[in-house]
Amino acid sequence: MSHNDLSRLSVHTMTNRPWSLAECIENYSSLGIPAMSVWRNVINPEEGGIGIDKAAQLIRTSHLQVPALVRGGFFPASAAEQRAKAIDLNRRCVDEAAALGADMVVLVVGAVPHMPLDEARRQVEDGIIQLLPHAESCRIRLAIEPLHPMYAADWSCINRLREARQLWESIQHELLGVVLDVYHVWFDPELDQEIHLAGEAGKLFGFHICDWRVETRSLRSDRGLMGDGCIDLRGIREKVEAAGFTGFHEVEVFSEEYWNWDQRQYLELITRRYLEAS
Ligand code: ZN
Repeated sequence: MSHNDLSRLSVHTMTNRPWSLAECIENYSSLGIPAMSVWRNVINPEEGGIGIDKAAQLIRTSHLQVPALVRGGFFPASAAEQRAKAIDLNRRCVDEAAALGADMVVLVVGAVPHMPLDEARRQVEDGIIQLLPHAESCRIRLAIEPLHPMYAADWSCINRLREARQLWESIQHELLGVVLDVYHVWFDPELDQEIHLAGEAGKLFGFHICDWRVETRSLRSDRGLMGDGCIDLRGIREKVEAAGFTGFHEVEVFSEEYWNWDQRQYLELITRRYLEAS
């Protein structure tokens, strides 16, 4: 079944990277898109963003919903001092998410080249445990996003839903769950089972969609828009929904190619592809 309307569509601001937060809000609203997932670069003044107070004000007056602030995480580090800094930064992310009225902070958990992955995972667990009391006081959910194994050296030591599950099972906190991003897990032979287990436990917090381009020209910024690639988007969505997921379908596309397009035309294509191909 294809979608009938845009009522469950959310677009990540990074998808339209050339736009400011104000431009994202204006264009998403005018096309009837009900939600937007906010990346920190559009609010962080050091990256050209408008600051958290203005961002919160713009979002409040827009009536757009904000499923997620993207992104916190990056817990592992060789020195204890750096690990402590990472916790502080994550607490700030949680504060920002609360200010924006977001539901969750997405965690790209981090990794350190040459650090054994099991040590990195131990540090991630420790970092999340330290962060949770603050998340609890702000009522912000933390969603671990497993990343494709090609990012295991430097971005994420959590590469499958199974490893994310090991964390939420071990930590056991109602505010800790996972984001399923089709780009990162579409090939996982355990996908069906893991969707079922996460859904059953109420741990499927987010669902990110895009497509896997054949051939991929860059590991970081050559994602396809839904319908450009080979992922069985409908099949995965049906499984996610059968597992009880009722949240937004968040379009997250890093693409040098599309960032060079006229962004309004691109956004119109995003809505068409959402309806036809996801
Ligand atoms: Zn994602």
